[in-house]
Amino acid sequence: MSVCWVGIGANIGEPRAAFELAWRLLAEHPRIKLLNRSGLYSTSPVGQHSGGTFTNGVFSLQTDLLPLALLDFLQGIESEIGRTRTVRWGPRPIDLDMLYVDQQIVNEPRLTLPHPAAWYRKFVVEPLVEIDAELQHPVLHESVGQLRERLSHRPLTVANLGPLPDGTTSTEFRQHFSDVHVFDGTKEPSVPAVYVRLHTDGMIDATRNGVPVADLTQTPGEPIQRLTDFLVSVLDTPKRIENW
Ligand code: ATP
Ligand code: CA
Ligand code: CA
Repeated sequence: MSVCWVGIGANIGEPRAAFELAWRLLAEHPRIKLLNRSGLYSTSPVGQHSGGTFTNGVFSLQTDLLPLALLDFLQGIESEIGRTRTVRWGPRPIDLDMLYVDQQIVNEPRLTLPHPAAWYRKFVVEPLVEIDAELQHPVLHESVGQLRERLSHRPLTVANLGPLPDGTTSTEFRQHFSDVHVFDGTKEPSVPAVYVRLHTDGMIDATRNGVPVADLTQTPGEPIQRLTDFLVSVLDTPKRIENW
């Protein structure tokens, strides 16, 4: 038996109704037992093409399905609720992400565990703390409660593993992210930092276990846009709107 923590989100249609339907379809599966669910949070959208405000939450379940079989089932629910994949990070009536499965580390084409963004997206970390603050990240060796602390440090120290993207030193960027200290990762930060990787080459190696590196090499847009989206997801304060 494994425990899986799932992130749920939506920003078109009726998120609440979509979540109820997803919950019901999961409950009907003979090999899935639903455990806890967080409240629902209202979150700023991330990315240029993502549309309006998101509703987000997380839940946990127990299952003897293998992770890929669970992913198949979750994607089936997404299709049933009307999700079509067009624009990367586009608007969607439902998104189900597998955040953690026990302490498993998986790197397969269809499945990465833990979900690579699970440790730094506030709209994931905040509801996870609500249901399981002690849940450990198997690579970073910090609990989600500790990860929230790390992300809450101000100024937020962001070490970039490579050349800084154009625009990082512009007045506009600095004004927008006045609570952020971006520097190049050649220096060892003296405060809890988060690391980002924007390029696949010319990087400083920080691949050791335990270093919180956000891999932004595959996310959409120019480097400055990718860094901006990352900062928005870290700095956002999701608002708890209701019980689920
Ligand atoms: P993000 O993953 O950055 O939140 P997204 O949720 O918008 O972006 P999708 O279009 O929903 O991305 O998913 C793209 C693919 O990601 C899926 O087809 C799936 O195979 C793959 N994937 C890899 N790891 C996971 C995971 N842990 N949970 C869900 N899907 C995953
Ligand atoms: Ca997602
Ligand atoms: Ca997804």
